[in-house]
Amino acid sequence: MRAAALKILCVSVLLAAAAPAVLAADSADTIHRRILTLDTHLDTPDSFGRPGWSIMDAHTFYDDRTQVDYPRMVKGGLKGGFFAIYTAQGPRTPEGYAAARDAAIKRAVEIREMVAKNSEHFELAFTADDAAKIAAKGKIIVYQSIENSYPIGKDLTLVKTFYDLGVRMIGPVHFSNNDLADSATDRMGPEWHGLSQLGKQFVAEANRLGMVLDASHASDDVFDQMLELSTTPIILSHSGPSAMFKHPRNIDDARIMRLAAKGGVIQINSLPNYLMAIPEVPQRDMEIRALNQKYGPFRTLEGDTLKAYMAERHAIEAKYPSPRPSIDDVMAHLLHVLKLVGVDHVGIGLDWDGGGGVRGLEDVADLPKISERLIAAGYSESDLAKIWGGNVLRLLREAQAKATASAR
Ligand SMILES: [Zn+2]
Repeated sequence: MRAAALKILCVSVLLAAAAPAVLAADSADTIHRRILTLDTHLDTPDSFGRPGWSIMDAHTFYDDRTQVDYPRMVKGGLKGGFFAIYTAQGPRTPEGYAAARDAAIKRAVEIREMVAKNSEHFELAFTADDAAKIAAKGKIIVYQSIENSYPIGKDLTLVKTFYDLGVRMIGPVHFSNNDLADSATDRMGPEWHGLSQLGKQFVAEANRLGMVLDASHASDDVFDQMLELSTTPIILSHSGPSAMFKHPRNIDDARIMRLAAKGGVIQINSLPNYLMAIPEVPQRDMEIRALNQKYGPFRTLEGDTLKAYMAERHAIEAKYPSPRPSIDDVMAHLLHVLKLVGVDHVGIGLDWDGGGGVRGLEDVADLPKISERLIAAGYSESDLAKIWGGNVLRLLREAQAKATASAR
């Protein structure tokens, strides 16, 4: 009798000890904060050279049109991402290329300077394994990517120059065709019908060095050719499904399925014009252009001048209200591709500081809402870990394992 009673007592003690873990499921927020979250398209470096602007300060989009800083990353549980070296396209001339090359190198230096200045909170990442190591130190993971390889011009040796600066993801084009490839949005239509001869060598060079190739902004033909030529899976760092909203920057389901079949990943974008039809407002755009001319380059504004600019800008925007998509639209795109190709081929690249952001998903502080909704839709913690970072790191790991250059 006594032995049996003791046994019952022990069992109940064990059950009581086990109960909290079994009964109390972790909240979506707890899960979100536990996983390694990366966004694959942060245009934040655009602000690094702004006078008086520090990533360590808490900003708002309303005050300075930014969506990412250290306080908001902490609030939104964002562990890091790919910080883009974006270069606007100019003339395809030797002078244009030299200026773009210098601007892109300067941008890479600004990323390094930001990390060096805030080395207690940020660390540069170069390999797939670096992410977990940096996160374990409680620091933000800073990978670098190139959006628009126009700065490469016709000199493919520059791909290695940027690799050496730490770039691990690279896309050939932006809004316009260049000497490497056709854009999805060039008003003149296709120039190469995909990649140029140089563009094909560019793909081989990225493979040789172990960089992830990014087909966002590229035309469908470029996507097809990159998918075929690349020896490792490619990424769409910030794109959406055209089945949900038809736009040249979005991609059709058949291509998403072929991307997945080759091991690739599509990272969902939140740029309003790629989520819903937003009527053009030429008068407002004209007034904003005039405002920009009055004040000069936005990146150079600070203090009271910035405040005055923002006040005038808000007044113009209030005068011409425009429909705006919401987090529901972003989730609809995300859930569509998840159903189409599964959790191994989908990720997050919301184009922060580059035009992304919708109602309810205004800046990176709102990111836990995505995890909350994914969990509500039935996705598990391990699914979320893949979506939020595991997939892109798998691509980087594979690109680096297959690199043939002794580049490191
Ligand atoms: Zn972009």
